[in-house]
Amino acid sequence: MRIAVLSDTHANLVALEAVLERIDDLAPDALWCLGDTVGYGPEPQACADIMRERADLCLAGNHDLAVAGKISLDRFNDIARFAAEWQREHLRPETMAWLLELPCREQREDITMVHASPRSPVWEYVDGPLTAGANYTEFETPLCLVGHSHIAVGWEMYEEEGRVHVHWATQIVGQPLHFDLDHRWLFNPGSVGQPRDRDARASFALLDTEARTWTWTWHRVEYDTEFVEQAIVATGLPIWLGRRLHVGN
Ligand code: ZN
Repeated sequence: MRIAVLSDTHANLVALEAVLERIDDLAPDALWCLGDTVGYGPEPQACADIMRERADLCLAGNHDLAVAGKISLDRFNDIARFAAEWQREHLRPETMAWLLELPCREQREDITMVHASPRSPVWEYVDGPLTAGANYTEFETPLCLVGHSHIAVGWEMYEEEGRVHVHWATQIVGQPLHFDLDHRWLFNPGSVGQPRDRDARASFALLDTEARTWTWTWHRVEYDTEFVEQAIVATGLPIWLGRRLHVGN
């Protein structure tokens, strides 16, 4: 099976459309979304509509749950809170209901999926080898997919003589990383709508489980960040939410 995996669209419709165009070219068998379809950006309703229609599996992220009112906005910074409150007023009631029903953790055969981390599916950032290693015993499958940090990154983990070893498993964009299911792997497809890894291009990944050795390929897609900044300003959202898109931070 070939699966397009995306996360953290954050109501950035222009980035989502650019990514979906590339995904259509790749013609995968399924599309999985690891959450945070809404939050931050100017087009929450359109992005939610697309994800509802196109994703075969869609998780809840912290922003999805906060916008829908399931979790408190207390842990958000001022800008994230302002954007979440603005989005609440710009989403249809049935979309709010859909967000509330999204699962926080899913498992499909050998693959565990969460928005943030296996031990804390809504909040923890897997942002380095220490947090990756700390999550080693929190999932049973060889592969775990996470979003939330907005960074396209991966780790290979295995246990030897009672110790968990963690190695970076990040690969050049567009080149398949072949991985062996004897070890455990944790991959983040990066963020569609607000990358934070100093690469402004929208990010997603393609997982291929057809061959005996599976592959994971990160993809990056350029889109018009200037246009999105103007849309952010036009809606009255903080300009910083647009500025950061030009630098991927
Ligand atoms: Zn996010």
